[in-house]
Amino acid sequence: MHIILFGPPGAGKGTQADNLVKDLNIIKISTGDLLRTEIEKGSNLGSEIKEIIDKGQLVPNNIISNLIKLKLKSQNYRKRIIFDGYPRNILQAKDLDDQLLKNKQNISLVISLHVNEKVVIKRILGRQVCSKCGLTFNEFSNLSTKNNHNCDKFFLKKRSDDNEKTIKKRFVVYNQETFPILNYYRKQNLLHEIDGMKEIGSIYKEIRAIIRPIEGWLYIAYSYK
Ligand code: ADP
Repeated sequence: MHIILFGPPGAGKGTQADNLVKDLNIIKISTGDLLRTEIEKGSNLGSEIKEIIDKGQLVPNNIISNLIKLKLKSQNYRKRIIFDGYPRNILQAKDLDDQLLKNKQNISLVISLHVNEKVVIKRILGRQVCSKCGLTFNEFSNLSTKNNHNCDKFFLKKRSDDNEKTIKKRFVVYNQETFPILNYYRKQNLLHEIDGMKEIGSIYKEIRAIIRPIEGWLYIAYSYK
């Protein structure tokens, strides 16, 4: 009973996943966040990962597979994960299926956010991430305010891979390696495609409507915003 949020860099997967985590009894796994945590540890592996991310390439599958394995082992994550930015190629998609199957779990839904590349590049250039609480904001379209964010503005940071050159490379990698896995999920009748160019709140409502049939097993903490 897990959900995958799918889409190109900057499509808004993280923002929507954070909203779902706030409202439902669900846990987010973002491989991007897991990798950045590894970088912050200052380990050798972390600096290897940083070099790859700053070039806009994909981190090797074995590193990702180990990170996911560790998470899936935890009882806390059983049957209620929202995956953000993972899987990113067909081998990762198959590896995830294998790992879930071993634990008698499965993917229930894949929600794909479709966006216009040019617009999204602008969005990414405005992205700010809070280094204290991890929430994402945007200096053009989703400002951090006292109403939506409790931390000081001082903690808002730009990501080192959110520059024009790296973003272009990330899109090439997405189109070549990540986009083709949509077909893998389409064939399994798991795919739901939505317009990711709408306003954050209306995209969220669409996502909630798609999830509704499986919401029974999630504890709904708050009603719609
Ligand atoms: P975005 O959605 O904007 O691309 P992420 O935080 O999801 O941002 O990913 C940032 C970078 O981390 C990617 O460009 C890639 O280098 C690396 N990364 C994240 N997830 C994966 C993954 N599943 N496999 C390989 N590399 C990954």
